[in-house]
Amino acid sequence: MRNVEPEVFLVAKPQLDYGELAAYLREVGGESWLERVDRGDLDNDAQNLAEFAGKMCYRSWEPGLNPNVKRVRTDQAKYLENILSMAHGSVLEHASFTFVLHNVSRVFTHELVRHRPGTAISQESLRFVRLADIPFWFPEWALADEELMKRASTLLEQLEEFQLWMAGHFGLDEEGVKMHEKKHKTSFMRRFAPDGVGTGIVWTANIRTLRHTIEARTDQGAEEEIRLVFAKIGELMRAEAPALFGDYTVTDGTWVPKWRKV
Ligand SMILES: Cc1cc2nc3c(=O)[nH]c(=O)nc-3n(C[C@H](O)[C@H](O)[C@H](O)COP(=O)(O)OP(=O)(O)OC[C@H]3O[C@@H](n4cnc5c(N)ncnc54)[C@H](O)[C@@H]3O)c2cc1C
Repeated sequence: MRNVEPEVFLVAKPQLDYGELAAYLREVGGESWLERVDRGDLDNDAQNLAEFAGKMCYRSWEPGLNPNVKRVRTDQAKYLENILSMAHGSVLEHASFTFVLHNVSRVFTHELVRHRPGTAISQESLRFVRLADIPFWFPEWALADEELMKRASTLLEQLEEFQLWMAGHFGLDEEGVKMHEKKHKTSFMRRFAPDGVGTGIVWTANIRTLRHTIEARTDQGAEEEIRLVFAKIGELMRAEAPALFGDYTVTDGTWVPKWRKV
């Protein structure tokens, strides 16, 4: 049994091609928007992408390009706050972030994958990956309970030992065993791993989805491991895109946005 802690690695985020943006904006007369980028006023690719998509909708790069538009917002934070307040959420879907969620349990991954729109998922296969030990996260309150820990450790060590025994019994490491056979038996063996076994998942979500899931999964009623992980995701996103995640109030680990359901 190996004591582990759920971890979040942000491994990918939006990157704009400003040369291509410039080429497009020259076509439609919107170069002044890009001048703000050149001046260094706009240095956040995720926020820039959301603003770009929003301004594209109304051709509001500058006043007069669309005869209906007499004034445009040039303060990005205010512009994006308006997007949130108007629930113009589709422009937030262009920017996606990819996380590796490491040493999370199958309890966690089972709940995570219930969130469908705006996500992409690749989960560690315990049909292919044979368990040599059982990584397991214990919350602080459980670690402090001596009797609980004694019994839990004994149980997990027994399960771990059974995994190793099965691998030997099925001869999985013997010469010439085909992958098909390994997969067949490894899949059977995983049935004896607990739901709490530490595993991994690559999770991509767009900003609209991130806003919804951070709120739902840090709620007081949510499960404690998923609350822990989504609090970490919330902190990362607030640093990555403050204009799109700065409206949350965090109280006792619960993230409540000012602008709901965008
Ligand atoms: C505290 C808590 C307890 C839970 N307990 C249980 C439980 O006991 N049993 C259980 O089965 N599940 C449970 N769930 C899971 C829950 O029912 C949802 O399936 C899960 O949270 C996914 O969220 P979502 O419905 O907002 O959908 P998401 O997939 O995150 O979608 C986001 C939003 O898109 C819209 N949307 C998505 N799909 C559709 C659709 N097909 N049709 C129309 N609109 C759609 C909805 O507005 C939705 O809120 C729980 C969730 C939480 C947070």
